[in-house]
Amino acid sequence: MSNSTEFETISDEQLATAVGGSQLSDAMAQARSMGLRITSTTGGRHAPRSYHYQGRAFDAAGSHAQMSALYRALQGTNPTELFYDPMGGIKHGRQIGAIGGHRDHIHVAY
Ligand SMILES: [Zn+2]
Repeated sequence: MSNSTEFETISDEQLATAVGGSQLSDAMAQARSMGLRITSTTGGRHAPRSYHYQGRAFDAAGSHAQMSALYRALQGTNPTELFYDPMGGIKHGRQIGAIGGHRDHIHVAY
């Protein structure tokens, strides 16, 4: 047995999950499949310490019906943050209500 095999124990998939990437990319794919536009990932202007800067958040825009549907679809997936003012807001599993500034897009973080 060579030493090199000991460094191949973590798959790319496991790594992505460890930093929240897999759930995030799944949610982005779901948003696109529902007809929403991804308007921001790591770029743009966001609150200080925003999850956007860590590559853990995205914003998506569409019709009210589309954004409401995405909110409902994701609210049971344990998102770190889920903000869409007309529907409310979730942060770390807690319902925190509308936080403001999120009427024209939905913010998702894992
Ligand atoms: Zn955002």
